Amino acid sequence: MGLISLVIKNQKPVVIRHLTAEMDNLPIKRLIGGTNKPSESWVGVPMMIGNELLGLLAVASYKPYAFDEEDVALLNSIAGQAAIALDNARHHAQVEEQTRRDALTGVYNHSHLLQSVAGYVARGKNDNTPVSLIMLDIDLFKKYNDTYGHVVGDEVLRLIVQAIQTHIKRTDVVGRWGGEEFGIVLADATTEQARAVAARVRETLAALPLTDRAGKLIPKPTVSQGIATFPDHAADAETLVDVADRALYRAKEQGRDQVRVAG
Ligand code: GH3
Ligand code: MG
Ligand code: MG
Repeated sequence: MGLISLVIKNQKPVVIRHLTAEMDNLPIKRLIGGTNKPSESWVGVPMMIGNELLGLLAVASYKPYAFDEEDVALLNSIAGQAAIALDNARHHAQVEEQTRRDALTGVYNHSHLLQSVAGYVARGKNDNTPVSLIMLDIDLFKKYNDTYGHVVGDEVLRLIVQAIQTHIKRTDVVGRWGGEEFGIVLADATTEQARAVAARVRETLAALPLTDRAGKLIPKPTVSQGIATFPDHAADAETLVDVADRALYRAKEQGRDQVRVAG
């Protein structure tokens, strides 16, 4: 264990006035960082919010007895304020992330999804890599809601997200266009790769269990999907969305429960 570990473990300031002299009484091993010269004075204070440790601040000097009580108090006060600032920034980031998300399913909302498509296409242009977009729409969902109720319908929306998330990479983005329609942006993915993802989402969804309040298994609706790939089917983000949408429309027209590719 080093000095930093000691602060983290105790969650209290650690003050070393003369390391060489105190070494034998400390439960630590000497770790030399930076230059090869050991520091003799060391003060480390935890950055705490309530009982949570967010980090620590430490100062060191090659000279022994470099810091007095006032210095320790000052460092403590700075650490306290830094912890508050960090905590505020963290909350701010959380709130911001929430405004990008759809409340029911937790995936990105319409505007963030659009932004993602644009961002991924811009990067694809830059890197010369493909970007595929899958548009997914639940088949005859209105009738499904009428038959099984909206609570079950909502559960289907969450199951679909689950099915999608099983098959995409961390760098891919899933979002809700609105209603019962989702978009999946696959970075650096060809049409064939997107086709494989779409097929697996369809199979996975069919296999996920869905029960009513009495615990009885109920059928899930099927989904239709349209696929378009940059740069094969579209030269910009807007067109990509448009042609994927048209492919989806064809899947609907040709009998639903299927995947259609643009072009
Ligand atoms: P199609 O196969 O042509 O897509 O038929 P559809 O019935 O799915 O299409 P339509 O656009 O007519 O209906 C969409 C339905 O989706 C209407 C609404 O009842 C349902 N829906 C939209 N948002 C939600 C939601 O948040 N929860 C639930 N339970 N249902 C929703
Ligand atoms: Mg539908
Ligand atoms: Mg729809």
